[in-house]
Amino acid sequence: MILKRLYTDRRVIGVRVLRAKRLQHFSPGLIDGGLAEGWLSIGQGVITIAGEAGPVAYRIVRAPGAYCCHCDAPVGGPERQSPGNDGLTEGQRHARDTHGDTPSPDPLNPAGYRIEAHFTGVLIGDEVETLTREEAAKFDQQVRETLAAKLRAKYGDTRDNAERRRAAKAAAGEG
Ligand SMILES: [Zn+2]
Repeated sequence: MILKRLYTDRRVIGVRVLRAKRLQHFSPGLIDGGLAEGWLSIGQGVITIAGEAGPVAYRIVRAPGAYCCHCDAPVGGPERQSPGNDGLTEGQRHARDTHGDTPSPDPLNPAGYRIEAHFTGVLIGDEVETLTREEAAKFDQQVRETLAAKLRAKYGDTRDNAERRRAAKAAAGEG
């Protein structure tokens, strides 16, 4: 999603929705910012952006939480998990009980589950794309470069990261 904040006297008075694709991740920062600035609301399983040209709404299909890397099942809330009496977290217990000795398919999450901080929403209504092709290409390029820089900062620039960059690029393409 691409939003442009609209200002009056340096105060945010709303947003213009430049792009809204079918699937969207809503980070805690985006939600907190939108709530504080008054252009986003959440209720009854829907996140609504009060865009300049009308509301753009997403049905929440996935809440923040822990999810299994093998089968995508929810395995706990969004908080960091602490081990139970058996020394395993809920995510580890699920991975052991359901997937046995199969190694985690996600090398970044060797315990077999990951914690997602974002909401995932599916657009209600039509996609929005008001950028020209050139503007959209430029924006996508910026997103890819930002992601690549973040990954380099987090993991160092090893040969393995070529794979991660490809994955990030594919993820960015989804919106
Ligand atoms: Zn599973």
